[in-house]
Amino acid sequence: MTTQKIRVAVAGASGRMGREVVKMVLEDETLQLVAAVAPSAGPVDAGVFAGKPNTGVLASASLEEALSGTKADVLVDFTVPQAAYNNAKLSIQYGVRPIMGTTGFTPEQIEELDELCQEKGIGGLIAPNFSIGAILMMKFAAEAAKYLPHVEIIEYHGDQKLDAPSGTSIKTAELISEARKELRQGNPNEEEVIEGARGGYYNGFRIHSVRLPGVFAQQEVVFGGNGQTLKIRHDSYDRAGYMPGVNVAVNKIMTYSGLIYGFEHIME
Ligand code: NAP
Repeated sequence: MTTQKIRVAVAGASGRMGREVVKMVLEDETLQLVAAVAPSAGPVDAGVFAGKPNTGVLASASLEEALSGTKADVLVDFTVPQAAYNNAKLSIQYGVRPIMGTTGFTPEQIEELDELCQEKGIGGLIAPNFSIGAILMMKFAAEAAKYLPHVEIIEYHGDQKLDAPSGTSIKTAELISEARKELRQGNPNEEEVIEGARGGYYNGFRIHSVRLPGVFAQQEVVFGGNGQTLKIRHDSYDRAGYMPGVNVAVNKIMTYSGLIYGFEHIME
């Protein structure tokens, strides 16, 4: 008996993450690449993005064209924050399960996309981070916040990143907020001599975004207590490190209904 392959469309296929996704899909015999989308894509073989030509799949500049013509099961999106929300909506409209790696979604958008997925009876995922190590860093940070509630987050990314703070730091901040009692940290009379010096404010604590060339993706969660600090740190060095997570998501999302926010909910 032959099992049906999962049909995967990739948005942002020409990008740094998208290329890795195209490669991962082409290398997995249980998956089938049915569309590769990027605004600048001409009529090229989709595999050229990942250095694996002759796939027979043409790249497309239009997501709607790709979704309407391919009967995809899943859309994997690594594009830009400005495009991701509309891409997710369009995907759901065509009954294609969106797996959104692109960061920058607002809580209202996440809620709306969840409703749309439920109406269609399909699963969907927004995952600010697909790396297993980063998920563990977030879980450990939430656990530590129960005992050491004074915390600040420092995240480091390359200087071309569009959104700040990173989706991972927002997700970490949300998990910390759920785990600890409400707390307004720091001196209530403190003043910023230079605007922004204390970072972004989130539920009583601060998130600092460092943007520098040469940096890939790192995050440090720093806890302070009486006479001690605890630092939980995760470093990503390579985009391929996200692909096992994306692969798990593509397979598991087929059995879900509604939108899941955070890869940690489906990784086990
Ligand atoms: P990138 O290299 O700049 O690639 C962006 C891709 O999006 C390109 O294919 C680009 O196509 C396409 N694009 C640009 N503008 C678009 C638009 N208006 N509509 C549709 N597509 C558009 O970016 P990246 O480094 O791959 O990162 C992509 C996203 O993934 C970012 O939001 C990043 O923060 C996120 N990310 C998430 C994770 C995770 O684990 N969830 C990990 C790393 C990165 P052209 O080449 O034609 O311009």
